Amino acid sequence: MAEPGVTSSNPIRDVCDYELLFDCVHCGLCAEACPTYVVTRCEMDSPRGRIYLMKSLAEGRIDLDDDAARHLDLCLGCRGCETACPSGVHYGRLIEGARSFVERNHRRGVLDRLKRHAVSAIFPYPNRLRALLAPLKLVDHVGLRPALRAIMPPIARDWLDLLPPLQANLRLLAKAPTATSRADAPAVVVHHGCVAQVLADSENVNSERLLAAAGYRIVQLESTSCCGALDLHSGNAARARDFARANVRALKKSGADAIVSGASGCSVAIAEYGDLLKDEPEFAEDARAASSKVRDLSSLLLDAPLKPKREFRCRITYHDACHLAHGLGVREAPRRLLASIPGVTIIEMPESDLCCGSAGSYNLTEPTMARDLACRKADNIVATGADYVVLANPGCEFQIAAELRHRRSKIEVVHLADFLAMASQ
Ligand code: SF4
Ligand code: SF4
Repeated sequence: MAEPGVTSSNPIRDVCDYELLFDCVHCGLCAEACPTYVVTRCEMDSPRGRIYLMKSLAEGRIDLDDDAARHLDLCLGCRGCETACPSGVHYGRLIEGARSFVERNHRRGVLDRLKRHAVSAIFPYPNRLRALLAPLKLVDHVGLRPALRAIMPPIARDWLDLLPPLQANLRLLAKAPTATSRADAPAVVVHHGCVAQVLADSENVNSERLLAAAGYRIVQLESTSCCGALDLHSGNAARARDFARANVRALKKSGADAIVSGASGCSVAIAEYGDLLKDEPEFAEDARAASSKVRDLSSLLLDAPLKPKREFRCRITYHDACHLAHGLGVREAPRRLLASIPGVTIIEMPESDLCCGSAGSYNLTEPTMARDLACRKADNIVATGADYVVLANPGCEFQIAAELRHRRSKIEVVHLADFLAMASQ
């Protein structure tokens, strides 16, 4: 119920889509699916608590103080609560609105602002990230990362630890079989992302090669912009819309019948362009068309399964990336693909769909909670005794690999496209 004098069309503050708040019946069935609640056991760090908080803010019953902003900041935007919710609450839309409200109305501490500014200024722009990483590539090449790490301030050290060794990606690059498709085959475009094209491009290349081997015709984008997910998750909807418009134009021009991304967060962002640009007559129709074409790699490959030339004997466990499982509802297709490889044994880990703490740039801005979740994920992975963790999102890959490196574990973390490429040699 709204407060007296506050109607569904007339909240006091523009916090989020106010009417959507009333879909929540406060049953609490989402709580155990929420990673932050599972860690803190604090009601205000649960989906229900945050919904209550958004409503209280909208109705002017509380002010946006440090404490309120903190509970909203701590949300990973993983959407585990959407999967668990029997009432169909669109939590993702609610938290995106609330984040924008926090950005507009709350002044954070200096360090927090600096971190967020750095993420926003660098990560969506591949050339800036490449330039920043160029000296580090040299450092890795001569094996001096531990020495560099030792002289860095703690916050820079935390960020450095999340960065994969900058040479390692080459090991997997371009291993999938190559093939030439028929001119009348369905056209697929792989969106190479922003961070992914710098740090995990083997996943893009191997996705294209696997799709071509499966009979699809690969088309390229004339230009690739960030999908806008980083901005949406940090409350900068205006720039997210700028990126979305650029992508909608390029995707339309590509003539693709299907759009794939190796990063599930990007897939979901594109799948929601129709909603993001719905009030822009010039883009609304093309945005809806782009959204309707989003597919995930494994579902497309299942239509034309790989035929590996040999056994690939190993034990793997599969981690469900949040946006793939909770955003696109894809869980079975990657498992079926992996199970079809001769020699592969899949061992399910507990809580496979509980967020690993990566969550876009969350592990950079909320390192404590992110690390707690990475530890929990690594415990579950190690308990399976697997040789490989396979997943379909580069952010999860970096986050989980960092924790396993820290434990000196021999378990390898591999993106689905790279794993399929290795297995189909
Ligand atoms: S999006 Fe994830 S972290 Fe946020 S409330 Fe929902 S389940 Fe919890
Ligand atoms: S978000 Fe859904 S599951 Fe959670 S309390 Fe509200 S209605 Fe219940």
